[in-house]
Amino acid sequence: MTTASASATPTESQKYLSTRGGDYGLSFEEVVLKGLAADGGLFLPHEVPVAEDWQSWKDLSYPELALKIFSLYISTSEIPTEELKGIIDRSYSTFRAEDVVPLVHLKDDNLYLLELFHGPSYSFKDCALQFLGNLFEFLLVRKNQGKEAKDKHHLTVVGATSGDTGSAAIYGLRGKKDVTVTILHPEGRISPIQEVQMTTCTEANVHNLAVKGTFDDCQDIVKALFGDADTNAHVKLGAVNSINFSRILAQIVFYFYAYFSLARKSSTFKVGDKVRFVTPTGNFGNILAGYFAHKMGLPVDKLVVATNENDILHRFWTTGRYEKNPEPTAGSKPDACKETFSPAMDILVSSNFERLLWFLSKEHAIANGKDSLASKKQASEDIVSWYQSLKSKGGFGPIHEDMLTNGRLIFESDRVSNAETSATIKSCYEETKYVLDPHSAVGITVAQRSLARVSAPTHHISLSTAHPAKFSDVVTAALKDEPGFDFEAQVLPDELKALLKKETRVTKVENSWEAVREILKAQDRS
Ligand SMILES: *Cc1c(COP(=O)(O)O)cnc(C)c1O
Repeated sequence: MTTASASATPTESQKYLSTRGGDYGLSFEEVVLKGLAADGGLFLPHEVPVAEDWQSWKDLSYPELALKIFSLYISTSEIPTEELKGIIDRSYSTFRAEDVVPLVHLKDDNLYLLELFHGPSYSFKDCALQFLGNLFEFLLVRKNQGKEAKDKHHLTVVGATSGDTGSAAIYGLRGKKDVTVTILHPEGRISPIQEVQMTTCTEANVHNLAVKGTFDDCQDIVKALFGDADTNAHVKLGAVNSINFSRILAQIVFYFYAYFSLARKSSTFKVGDKVRFVTPTGNFGNILAGYFAHKMGLPVDKLVVATNENDILHRFWTTGRYEKNPEPTAGSKPDACKETFSPAMDILVSSNFERLLWFLSKEHAIANGKDSLASKKQASEDIVSWYQSLKSKGGFGPIHEDMLTNGRLIFESDRVSNAETSATIKSCYEETKYVLDPHSAVGITVAQRSLARVSAPTHHISLSTAHPAKFSDVVTAALKDEPGFDFEAQVLPDELKALLKKETRVTKVENSWEAVREILKAQDRS
């Protein structure tokens, strides 16, 4: 074990600020444990590090690559290299695939699929949450060294889930020291596999609450708890939602890894060539990591945002306006998103998009002659005013034409309907026998249109964000007429089948945030 070298001064990419201007010069540890800035903004490093030597990383294993990348964002004075390496090794040894995120050649010359679902919960979210769980434990145990039980920092992570995030959070935090995790799900409204993935985790620090209500009700309860003085007086609440910067950081790795895998697999692609990534997008966390990879030096042709019918991001790239509900449909709640075949992408607004807007505003200010500090100030002022307008009027924009043009140099977008999602699951199976989950099918639909659109042959890597077994309804409906198709035999992994027979633990609770508060307070005493 190396000891922390107090002499290692953090670089500008190892210190953090808030997009709304209220924080500057924070440590990585503060950013991870806080999650969200006190001014409501999101954390970003002062500067994105440029990796001059990225080409020399081409033969590294996934954990070795993660260590290279994370070291640029985390000072050794905070986490010594050996400790960081241990955290990384523990996080990625739980994956079922030897290379963590295998790249599969799907079809044509240029269409590849990056399988991100080989972690414990079969969702891409494991790539970040396995790391976050070990990081939380490391930071809390270190804070608590030598402290009496009553003085210990104990983090109570609370979250609401419609399926994917909850199981990945539980698999990230189960059995970890000094942290408990409580996940609310709407009773009877998540898929049976997702339910047993969560409720078969019977570790003492895992609590599943089945709420008599909808996913929106669960989210409202979590919001009420975070805003409640009594709850905060009793427990230290933490969140693991996609705004935590460590999650973005963890996801940068697979963009680099996919790129190098492509160079190994394709005889027509070499290190230095540009690649196009297509990312099924909800809260903009995954694709934002791709933007960081690009800024660090990875040769990216375009990052293509693939949305479902909740298309606020596609509308933004088309019009420059960021608006919740341009035309509320009859009978719809004003602030509700549509329920689609790809539920993990059902969002009204994309929480991480604030981070990209900050960069677009800052670069605009730099182009207009402002220095680094003044451009950051300008960016935080723009963010504050845009988000005030989002809150009061439900939207803002169009943003300055030059900002949009600059963003479009690297981003494209496209939108996919439910019918198109099913059609792609079917046509992909007929052509290749590969079974896509609905989220990955949104990506492949967009990738195929992009391939048809580009003027010169371009390698496309489409990200596959979930295993098809997690979304059996949509997958079996799309493939019901395929001769001989058998979901249980072809799609459902034995490990998930076995879960259906295991012991479960879940607490049913009324749709009342006060009821949930009492449960949290009781847990704290136990
Ligand atoms: C969370 C999730 C997404 C969306 O990712 P963002 O980072 O929120 O854009 C897509 N697909 C699946 C399966 C997910 O769980």
